[in-house]
Amino acid sequence: MSEHDHQAEPDSLRTPIVAVLGHVDHGKTSLLDKIRGSAVHEGEAGAITQHIGSTAVPLEVISDIAGELVNPDDFDLPGLLFIDTPGHHSFSTLRSRGGALADIAILVVDVNDGFQPQTHEAMDILARTSTPFIVAANKIDTVPGWNPEQNRPSKVAIESQSERVQSDLNDSLYEIIGQLSSKDISADMYWRVQDFQKNVGVVPLSAETGEGVPDLLTVLMGLSQRYMKDEMEIDTAGPAAGTVLEVKDTQGFGTTIDTVIYDGTIREDDTIVVGSKPEPIVTDVRALLQPKPLAEIRADEEFEQVPEVVAAEGVKVAAPDLDDAMAGAPVRVVGDRELDDVLDIVRKELADIEVSTEEE
Ligand code: GDP
Repeated sequence: MSEHDHQAEPDSLRTPIVAVLGHVDHGKTSLLDKIRGSAVHEGEAGAITQHIGSTAVPLEVISDIAGELVNPDDFDLPGLLFIDTPGHHSFSTLRSRGGALADIAILVVDVNDGFQPQTHEAMDILARTSTPFIVAANKIDTVPGWNPEQNRPSKVAIESQSERVQSDLNDSLYEIIGQLSSKDISADMYWRVQDFQKNVGVVPLSAETGEGVPDLLTVLMGLSQRYMKDEMEIDTAGPAAGTVLEVKDTQGFGTTIDTVIYDGTIREDDTIVVGSKPEPIVTDVRALLQPKPLAEIRADEEFEQVPEVVAAEGVKVAAPDLDDAMAGAPVRVVGDRELDDVLDIVRKELADIEVSTEEE
């Protein structure tokens, strides 16, 4: 995450931003769907919120899903924000362009398939960007003879299998651990990891049966709380900082930017600076848009306007002159700062983008 570029004191802890990456068909989309589905199932109505490009899962919902694994009193981070577009291509663009989007990543690996080309690519990106990650060893339910039971913690699920199934699964899991080790990553089953800064935790799970999903959420929450709390301190009243996820045409609003805000607040009518070539765009926010709840969607109105958005949250920003905005580019609210200072901040981030693009 980039440095705070304004001076005010932090007053709040934001939600860590989680990205999901891995080889095609290894289960990234299914895992996100499962997490969303479990959250809807466990949560009070409206407890999880679908933002633009992301899903916010609050701590209480995580604690409901994780059961005895998570005691909400042990945490003061508000939950987790999952970026909905899985895949390392978007992640790579965002990161390598200096957007520094995710705080933590889930690397999904199919236990039967092990490391594949895009798994290696994803790991290289994670290493280059120093993004902490955990490995979701997915599809444990496909081990022949597996006896499923929805949403169990993974250790319980594994221990209830026959010896033969346990042994087959272990072979696959240790193959993955070996593949990590050949990349100089020391990894182990997550319940054996003492220091998550030195060792990568492997969480055996099934995006299909939900087994191990409680563990995954627990480890993500625990890691964030333990090692990322300082980085999550933000000044909610300050001018927003964010990253463009996608540049899109939106009916009635022209070109809009789907953005993840990771610091401060953005409001309607705020003046913003958006990364672009050759010069950043300076414009005023016309509307901030969120998806309407499913039941309320009419053909002509998918979105509702909100007056402000506080980090961390995804939002669609409508403003004039966004045609040349770039995915991965920084977005800054000017607030009470000098426009020239904010332009300099954005130009500097864009220069970093060029450097890291040349490196590739
Ligand atoms: P992505 O390309 O990484 O997003 O992969 P998908 O989520 O689309 O999954 C690819 C296929 O694997 C789909 O047919 C899923 O239903 C299936 N799949 C994903 N996770 C699991 C799992 O844990 N168990 C089983 N049995 N199938 C899974």
